[in-house]
Amino acid sequence: MSKDQYKYLLNETDIPKHWYNINADLPAPPAPVLNPQTLEPVTPEFLNVLFPLALIQQEVSTDRYIDIPEEVREIYKLWRPTPLIRARRLEKYLDTPAHIYFKNEAASISGSHKCNTAVAQAFFNKAEGTKALTTETGAGQWGSALSVACNFFDMDLEVYMVKVSYNQKPYRRIIMQTYGAEVYASPTDRTEIGRRLLAEDPENPGSLGIAISEAVEVAAHSGGQKKYSLGSVLNHVLLHQSVIGQEALKQLDLAGEYPDVVIGCVGGGSNFGGIAFPFLHENLTGGKKTRLLAVEPEATPSLTKGVYAFDYGDTAKMAPVMKMYTLGHDFVPAPIHAGGLRYHGMSPQICALYDAGFIDAVAVPQMPTFEAAIVFAKTEGIIPAPESAHAIRAAMDEALEAKAKGEKRVILFNLSGHGLLDLSAYDAYHQGLLQEDSYEITREEILRRLPEVNLAE
Ligand SMILES: *Cc1c(COP(=O)(O)O)cnc(C)c1O
Repeated sequence: MSKDQYKYLLNETDIPKHWYNINADLPAPPAPVLNPQTLEPVTPEFLNVLFPLALIQQEVSTDRYIDIPEEVREIYKLWRPTPLIRARRLEKYLDTPAHIYFKNEAASISGSHKCNTAVAQAFFNKAEGTKALTTETGAGQWGSALSVACNFFDMDLEVYMVKVSYNQKPYRRIIMQTYGAEVYASPTDRTEIGRRLLAEDPENPGSLGIAISEAVEVAAHSGGQKKYSLGSVLNHVLLHQSVIGQEALKQLDLAGEYPDVVIGCVGGGSNFGGIAFPFLHENLTGGKKTRLLAVEPEATPSLTKGVYAFDYGDTAKMAPVMKMYTLGHDFVPAPIHAGGLRYHGMSPQICALYDAGFIDAVAVPQMPTFEAAIVFAKTEGIIPAPESAHAIRAAMDEALEAKAKGEKRVILFNLSGHGLLDLSAYDAYHQGLLQEDSYEITREEILRRLPEVNLAE
């Protein structure tokens, strides 16, 4: 193996044959998921209105490994295994003794890690006879991934796209339509919640919470024809993303290294969980001590400033209630350009692990994040998604700290997607139009908005 290697590549036969399920290794049993109407633990029948049984089983399974169906692996071959790249030019620019590696999920067919779960979810829905899926999308990455997946499995798809993103990102809409999806600017007049919000304010810019409510409402009222699909947050989504970390473990082994720190940006937590959990498994069972660092924007700091409590998954209180670090389900975030990170809550698995001290989190401001994105583009040649740039910022900060301390540090981060369809955000940066938005809300204010949950112990 050459000493100055850049790319660590695997063969198609190295695509994982199973997903890794962190439920098997959680320090404590997960909190129950609650029915939003009764605030009692959900029944499988309730969840089955929205999701196929196979995904509900994955949601609660405590099996450590779950087989990846051959049909799904076959489609994964279109882009997996993704490359692991040593960011040598970035290291040189930073003049750091640290070794920086990134897993390039931008190399997928839709440009982000989201296809890993989209294909799996489409497969399991198709297998149970679902005719169409409904979903929400923020920046459009999830909608694009699910559009191509539904197209492969010959299923219809309705996408409720947050209105600000719909207007800022017409190219994502066109991609979804090219794959055959129907795309609506949310809030729409197609649902009760949408009509109510538009009556209150015709200029409502939308939010992920609202778009989720619309997609859930359509599926719930479809008489079983349509199911709902979520691109992050839920356990089965993080499960599917575990292919990222499993491959990265093998690739770092090829490089003869092991990471001191693994970094990912967090919106709902799926790309971070995907890269970090297989390393967490090594921490828990293999005596390793890798630091796992989740990075969020200061404008939506659910982990670092939220409250750990039961909250609704959506604005209209139709989606299940989960225990998570939350900013409140009616939170409407500042229109920062990292659309995929604007969710009020966070994966319950990540929250439980963060609460138990197995995961670290940091919030970074928008301006230094874009500065990091530009440095990365100029050194490594890839224009990152604004979401991924949060992980790059944190990775650069780690490398600079290693330099200040004069220590070698092995840093791995997930490049969750490319930014070639987020150029309006880069344009705003170049023109000096980006504003720093930090989130000002007290714990008391968040607490006042939360549902009152009294579970029998
Ligand atoms: C959706 C998205 C994210 C945020 O979602 P997670 O579930 O937290 O991974 C991050 N990066 C990109 C490129 C995305 O598309």
